[in-house]
This record gives sequence, C-alpha cells and structure tokens, in this order.
Amino acid sequence: MRVVVSGGSGFVGSHLCEALIRRGDMVSCLDDFSSGRPENIAHLLREARFQCTPCDVTEEVKVSGKVDAVMHLASPASPFDYYRHPLETLAVGSRGTENMLRLAVRNDARFVLASTSEIYGDPLEHPQTEDYWGHVNPIGPRSVYDEAKRFSEALTMAYRRSLSADIAIARIFNTYGPRMRPHDGRVVSSFIRQALDGEALTVFGDGSQTRSFCYVDDLVRGLVALLDSPHPGPFNLGNPKEWTVRQLAELVTLVTHSSSELRFLPLPVDDPARRRPVITRARESLGWNPQVPLEEGLRHTVDWFASQSQTLVRPPERSAAGRPS
Ligand code: NAD
Ligand code: UDP
Repeated sequence: MRVVVSGGSGFVGSHLCEALIRRGDMVSCLDDFSSGRPENIAHLLREARFQCTPCDVTEEVKVSGKVDAVMHLASPASPFDYYRHPLETLAVGSRGTENMLRLAVRNDARFVLASTSEIYGDPLEHPQTEDYWGHVNPIGPRSVYDEAKRFSEALTMAYRRSLSADIAIARIFNTYGPRMRPHDGRVVSSFIRQALDGEALTVFGDGSQTRSFCYVDDLVRGLVALLDSPHPGPFNLGNPKEWTVRQLAELVTLVTHSSSELRFLPLPVDDPARRRPVITRARESLGWNPQVPLEEGLRHTVDWFASQSQTLVRPPERSAAGRPS
C-alpha cells in the first residue's frame, strides 16, 4: 500500500510513518516542518519505501503516482502552538483538510482524519462517548483549534455523503511519548523536562483538572487498525484511565527521582475540567485496546528525553498561563 501522511515529521506522525514502513507499506510524508522536526524522520529517509516532501498542505498538494490511503495529521496540536499560530491552525483544518480529501478522492483512496478530543470542548458529559456533541466556546482562544477540527470532521463527513469518499475519523485523546518537543508546552513534555532540569513543575490551576494519557505506540496501533478497517467512525482513541494533573506531576517526579516542587500558576482560559474517553466502539469494531500503563510509558519517555537533553533547542519564552509572552 502507498500511504500519504501529512504531518509525518511530527510527534505522532513520525511514529505512524515508522509503523507503516515496518509492516511493508510505502510512505510519502508531506510536512512544512512548522512543529515537526527533521530528526524525527532522519532514520526513515534511509528506507527506499519512505520519502518526504516539504510542503504546506494549505497550498496546492501535488502527489504523483497512485495513492492508496491518505492520513491527515498536519496541524498544530499543542495549545502553545495554536495560540501562537491561530490563522495557520484554522487554515490547515479547513483548506488543508480539503486538499487532503481531494487527493484521496482523486485516487479513490481511503482517508483518515486525525481529529481530537478537543471537539468535545469542556465537556458537560463525562466520560465522553462519540455520540456527545460537545461544549465548545466558538470565540475563545482554544476555538481556533477546536473549531478547525470540528470543521474538518464536518467536511470529511460531507465528502462521504456527497462524493461517497471512503473516510474515517479518529478522535485522539492526550497522547505522549518519545519525540515530543520538550518546550511544546504540553503537560507531559513540560513536567518531564522541568523534572529533569531540576525546575519546579508548573501546575496550572489547582491541578484537579483531569486528562487520560495514551502512550504513542498504543495510539499508532489504533490509527493503523482504523486505516485497515472499513469503518468511518468517529472513534475515540485514548487511554480510558483518568488522572488529575496533580497526580501526573507526582508520578513524573517519582519516575524521574526528582525533588522538584510544584509551582501553581493560573489556569488557561477555557481549559477543559475533565476528559476521559469511552472506547467501547474502538474495542468492538477495531479490536483496539491501549496496553501501556502511564508509569511504564512515562519511563520510556523520560529515558528518551534524558538521551536528547543536549541536542534540543529552546524556543521563545512563554507566559505563566501557558500563552506565549
Ligand atoms: P505535532 O505538532 O508534533 O505534529 C503536527 C505536524 O504537522 C508537524 O510535523 C507540523 O510540522 C505539521 N504541519 C502543521 N501544519 C502543516 C501544514 N500546513 N502543512 C504541512 N504540515 C503541517 O503534533 P502531534 O501531537 O504529532 O499531532 C498530530 C495530529 O494528531 C494533529 O492533527 C493533532 O491535532 C492530532 N492530535 C494529537 C494529540 C496528541 O495528544 N498528540 C491529541 C489529539 C489530536
Ligand atoms: N498543564 C499544566 N502545566 C503545564 C502544561 C499544561 O498544568 O505546564 C495542564 C493544562 O492546563 C491542562 C492539562 O495540563 O489542564 C493538559 O494540557 P496540555 O496542554 O498537555 O493538553 P490539553 O489537553 O489542554 O490540550
């Protein structure tokens, strides 16, 4: 199979490309390297079945030769990134998604959209099933991401209804693992970096808000299972074990043997209070189940961060509430 992966040099995308190459597929990665890193795919470039074309998918997407599947992951994903790039985030969720859908339809290829738990916003229903419509502030600072992904889902479903496109939607919940950028502002990468650097761990709010953290290898198995299935979804892909942010901070200090303290900072606007996926649909239709417990996944991630600490570059400073200053 030849699979086009947009955002393939990013955190999730690079692991996905690796898994596809490992099982014998040909992979064409499209990436503008806005948040992806060449180092993430350097080892794949040695493979004859892997190629990467620098490309902004909001512009015309030209891919020559037959394509069997399109997996659309290109988008800023960390709140820190989409606060800094609101217009680009909306563009890649709208024009970018349409360009990738067109590529799929031209080739009669299966299309998989990387959507997000953020489409549920700050959910009033807990835990979240795929039938829940969500609770999103359409004009708040997070809306550039949430509404872009909601539009992506609507567009994807319209291509299915109007053009009989073969599509699938994955609603990805918080995922972590090696190749996260240490300064991407997300909670797992921030806590690990801070603990390894001997800094205080920045807990936003009182740390009672919850998330459900999925190890990247588990997520990638889910995305590949969805690619191989005939189902459109949407499917929640996430680990249903729920943690408070404060519990996560304590676990990270344990795993890193750190004596870092917790530093409490203001909660960002519209920060969802609770998030936990119901994954019955993915279990039953895809045979998918996350397997890596948080402590084990954190150990792998910490080992990777420790091995990279000399080579990673610091980005601009950010303000206390998680926004760029
Ligand atoms: P990431 O920032 O590491 O990867 C995104 C990739 O997209 C980067 O390589 C970036 O350079 C590329 N990109 C962005 N805009 C582009 C454009 N216009 N043209 C071409 N490439 C572009 O983020 P990630 O965590 O790997 O997320 C990957 C996908 O999964 C995103 O769509 C994200 O919304 C979704 N997702 C991730 C999570 C998570 O916890 N990691 C959760 C929910 C959804
Ligand atoms: N968070 C935190 N400290 C940080 C970064 C994030 O307490 O340094 C909190 C954030 O407010 C949110 C949760 O951790 O409640 C997850 O944040 P992240 O940015 O990783 O993902 P989100 O689920 O918000 O997209």
